[in-house]
Amino acid sequence: MNYQDFYRQSVEQPELFWANEARRIHWEKPFETVLDHSRPPFAKWFVGGTTNLCYNAVDRWAESQGDKPALIGISTETNTEKVYSYSELKQEVMRAAAMMQSLGVRKGDRVLIYMPMIPEAAFAMLACARIGAIHSVVFGGFAANSLATRIDDAKPVLIVSADAGSRAGKAIPYKPLLDEAIGLSSHKPRHVLLVNRALAPIATVEGRDVDYETLREQHMHAQVPVTWLESNDTSYILYTSGTTGKPKGVQRDVGGYAVALAASMDYIFCGKAGETYFSTSDIGWVVGHSYIVYGPLIAGMATVMYEGLPIRPDAGIWWSIVEKYKVTRMFSAPTAVRVLKKQPPEFMKKYDLSSLKALYLAGEPLDETTSQWISSELGVPIIDNYWQTETGWPILSIACGVQEKATRLGSPGVPMYGYKVRLLNEATGEECGANEKGVVVIDGPLPPGCMQTVYGDDERFVKTYWSNFRQQVYSTFDWGIRDEDGYYFILGRTDDVINVAGHRLGTREIEESISSHPNVSEVAVVGVEDKLKGQVAVAFVIPKNAEPASTPEGRKALEAEIMAVVDRQLGAVARPSRVHFVGLLPKTRSGKLLRRSIQALCEGRDPGDLTTIEDPASLQQVKAALAE
Ligand code: AMP
Repeated sequence: MNYQDFYRQSVEQPELFWANEARRIHWEKPFETVLDHSRPPFAKWFVGGTTNLCYNAVDRWAESQGDKPALIGISTETNTEKVYSYSELKQEVMRAAAMMQSLGVRKGDRVLIYMPMIPEAAFAMLACARIGAIHSVVFGGFAANSLATRIDDAKPVLIVSADAGSRAGKAIPYKPLLDEAIGLSSHKPRHVLLVNRALAPIATVEGRDVDYETLREQHMHAQVPVTWLESNDTSYILYTSGTTGKPKGVQRDVGGYAVALAASMDYIFCGKAGETYFSTSDIGWVVGHSYIVYGPLIAGMATVMYEGLPIRPDAGIWWSIVEKYKVTRMFSAPTAVRVLKKQPPEFMKKYDLSSLKALYLAGEPLDETTSQWISSELGVPIIDNYWQTETGWPILSIACGVQEKATRLGSPGVPMYGYKVRLLNEATGEECGANEKGVVVIDGPLPPGCMQTVYGDDERFVKTYWSNFRQQVYSTFDWGIRDEDGYYFILGRTDDVINVAGHRLGTREIEESISSHPNVSEVAVVGVEDKLKGQVAVAFVIPKNAEPASTPEGRKALEAEIMAVVDRQLGAVARPSRVHFVGLLPKTRSGKLLRRSIQALCEGRDPGDLTTIEDPASLQQVKAALAE
């Protein structure tokens, strides 16, 4: 079938289409209704059916290919490498599940996972899925305040963590950050389960903290049956940044997610059971959830979990993994490719990469130079794919197998099956024509696998995502354009979210953190184009007391202090690349920050429409600060 027909069927007869796809997974009890869309924009898929993500990802394959590799844990930080077969993975997951149960975790309870990229993190996620607990993985690069807001929102009964992560051979202690976060939060977890990697000392809190290995030894032979869950029960919460300082808990279901991932592994990633998949992302992000842990395992593939840098011990490390484990499908981000491009090219040539069939890139715009360079180096198709934490799997890409459409440079592709993608004019809400810029929106119901709601806040879900136009459509908050052939191009966010090295950050969160410095009166943070990272955060601060910022040395010291505040509260991932000091910030007469104008000045562009500016002198101040 050609892709047009396939796509048309998926959006014109979604129930028929998805009922067929649902056969890809095991249902303990068949569903009664494919789709319940009686309360839009909420969509319930496969109502009445019971299934389990862990069963589909692990048990099913442990039965049919128990001795085949499932999880390949590689750390170039601690120089460890361990392959778990499907049977071994199942046993480790049952141990972790029994450990959680012994700590009082029950169906529907939340478990927060704050872990480095070690196999125990995947065991914990799958163990939650097995017993119907709801996991919330928080990226290890986030610090105390970010963690505390997530603890207060998810209210976990248990936190699973480790003594430390590691970066470039240097231990990054997690436990002190975690203790600080629990100190800051009003909700207190009953227990903290800690993997001790012997990288950093652990200060144990009596009665609360439990050692992973000690407890594991008590559950070596644990047999924990799968808890069958209704398709619309919640599998996990994953926090993501938005326009306010308060992150949104993207809530996902069980059955719809399993079906969506199973289908995408086939239609988009062409992954086959028995092959190896290697995604270089982190379990703290949605790619890690969908395409390190659940997707590849649901497809019966071996999945690589890699802790380390792409250039350590040298720039050949990823390619040595591809060769050794015969990776067929690899997933990364443009920033990582740009990092590799700066390295001598011989590293790639050193290894036999003949197993590799395609490289998938996502998370940020893929520029043509990067795409062409990696494509010629690897000699395989480079498949850009565009999606969000909210959707859980690609919205735009190039489907394999069902599609003769070729990739087009600079475009992540065409709408994937199930997504009714459109472009609307921001002001009028009218549909855009070819080559006309608009907001990328999706007509409801969203296909299976997409977010159910904002955790604990249905109203925020409706208000944030579905109330931006006269008609009720889901807004991606991305600008886009579509050419005559139906290929989309993504032109950046319409809101105050920025994308640093593929990591999504809210400028409001960074501003709130900077505001907590005692000498900050006002602050504006904008995303500025960067050759390597796509974007970086740049801050403009009005100091309360101008004195310390009156000399270059004073400004330098204050800049360092402010950066340290962000590091401590949010994590180095959110640290601005520069902090400039000004006496005025460009605002409208109604007091709204003119972020787009500030951003334009930072990028050497025209500041745009300034009819509503309060005081044009503010622009001169920004320019002067930048010229320094
Ligand atoms: P996240 O929710 O962290 O995955 O970030 C999602 C956002 O990243 C999207 O809304 C886009 O702004 C951006 N993004 C993701 N993938 C792509 C892509 N392939 N091309 C351009 N932008 C992308």
